[in-house]
Amino acid sequence: MSGVPEALVAAVVVLAALLLHHLRHIARLTRWLRDPDPDTVPPGRGLWDGIFGNLYRMLRRQRQSESLLTATLEDFQQAGAAMPDGLVILNAAGRIEWCNPMAEQHLGLDCARDVGQSITYLVRQPQFVDYLRRENYSEPLTLRQSRGGEYVLSVQLVPYGNQQTLVISRDITDLERVETMRRDFIANVSHELRTPLTVLCGFLETIADAGGADGELLRRSLPLMTEQARRMQRLVEDLLALSRLESSHNPPREEEIDVPQLARELYHDALALSAGRHRVLLDVTTGDSLIGAEEELRSAFGNLISNAVRYTPERGEVEIAWRRDGGDVVFSVRDSGIGIAAQHIPRLTERFYRVDRSRSRETGGTGLGLAIVKHVLNRHQGRLEIASELGRGSTFSAVFPPERVIAREAPAALARSA
Ligand code: ADP
Repeated sequence: MSGVPEALVAAVVVLAALLLHHLRHIARLTRWLRDPDPDTVPPGRGLWDGIFGNLYRMLRRQRQSESLLTATLEDFQQAGAAMPDGLVILNAAGRIEWCNPMAEQHLGLDCARDVGQSITYLVRQPQFVDYLRRENYSEPLTLRQSRGGEYVLSVQLVPYGNQQTLVISRDITDLERVETMRRDFIANVSHELRTPLTVLCGFLETIADAGGADGELLRRSLPLMTEQARRMQRLVEDLLALSRLESSHNPPREEEIDVPQLARELYHDALALSAGRHRVLLDVTTGDSLIGAEEELRSAFGNLISNAVRYTPERGEVEIAWRRDGGDVVFSVRDSGIGIAAQHIPRLTERFYRVDRSRSRETGGTGLGLAIVKHVLNRHQGRLEIASELGRGSTFSAVFPPERVIAREAPAALARSA
C-alpha cells in the first residue's frame, strides 16, 4: 500500500461499505417488490429506514382505500340486487356492463354470461329495439312478456355519466289488471244504467210528442217507468254498499249478533219474497252468536236468500240453515233451483258476472249481490262456499271461523220450523 495515501484507502473502504449497504437494501426492495405487502416491508437502516417506512405507509393507505372501495361497491351491488326493479347498465355501444337479478328475471338475461353482449341481441322485441333507438326516453315503454306466464313490464331508459344508459324495468302486471278492472267496471256501470235510462227517455219523449200525457198513455207508461227507475235505484244502492265496504277494512262494529233470531227474521222475509211460490224451510241447530256488524251480515244473508228465491222455479224448495261444522259455524241457503254449471262458479262473486243476464234482470238483479256477500264475509274473516249442480239446485254457505263465534246453547224451540 505504499504510495497510496491512507485517507484514500479509508475512503474506498467506506464507499465500498456504503455501496454494499445500498446494494443489500436494493436487493431486499427488489425481492419485496415481487409480492408487495405492507406486512412484509423489509427492515431498513439509515436512509432506507425512511424509504421503507414511507413505502409501508403508502401501501397501507392504498390497501385501506381499496377495501373501502370494495366495500362501497359491494354495498351498491347488494342494494342493486335487493331492488324490486330490474337494473341494467349499458355502455355507449349498448352492451351490458352490469345487471341485477330482477333484470335477469324481467328480461331473460344472465348477468354472469351476458356482460359485454349487446342488449338488443338478448331482448329482441321490436318495440324495445325501437325504443332504444328513439333516444327520447321521457315516457316509459310498456312491454308484454310471455316467458314463465303472462306479465307486463314498464321499461324506462335513463342516460347518465359517460354515454352510459341505465335500463330500469318494473313489473306492472297487477297495476294493469287493476286498471283493466276499473275500465271494465265503468263500462259495466254505464251499460247497466243506459238501458233503463233509454226506456225512461223513450217514454218521456212519447209523452212530450203527444203534447202531454192522457190517462191511457200514463196508465201504460207509468208502471214501466217506475220499474226502470227502481232498477237504477237498486243499482246505485248496491254500488254505494260496495264502495262503503271497499273503503273500510274492518267491520265497523264488533257487536254480538243473535244469528238464530236473524235467521228467523230472514225466514219471514223469504216467505214474503216467495209469496207462496216455494216451500221455505228454516233449520237452526245451534244457538251460537257471531261477532260482527249486524247490518252487513243481514244484507249478505239476505242476498243469498233473495238469489235462492229468484233462481228457483215455482214449487221449488229454499232452506235456510244455521249450524256448527267442527269449530266453524255455517249460515247456508240451499235451493232446488236452476243450479249453476261448474265453469261459472269461480266467477260468480265478480262484479256484474251473471250466468244468465236476462234472467237476472227480469228478477230485479244487479249482478252485484254476491260481490257484496264476498266483501262482507271477508271483513268477518269468513268465506263463501258454493256447491251447485245444473238443474238440481245450489247451496251457498257462509262459513265463519271460531274466533268470530260466541257459543250459545240452542233453545229447544229453535230446532226446526218450516
Ligand atoms: P244477480 O243480481 O244477477 O243475482 P248476484 O251477484 O247475486 O247477481 O249473482 C251472480 C249470478 O250468480 C247470478 O246472475 C246468477 O247467474 C248466479 N246465481 C246466484 N245465486 C244463484 C242461485 N241460488 N241459483 C242459481 N244461480 C245463482
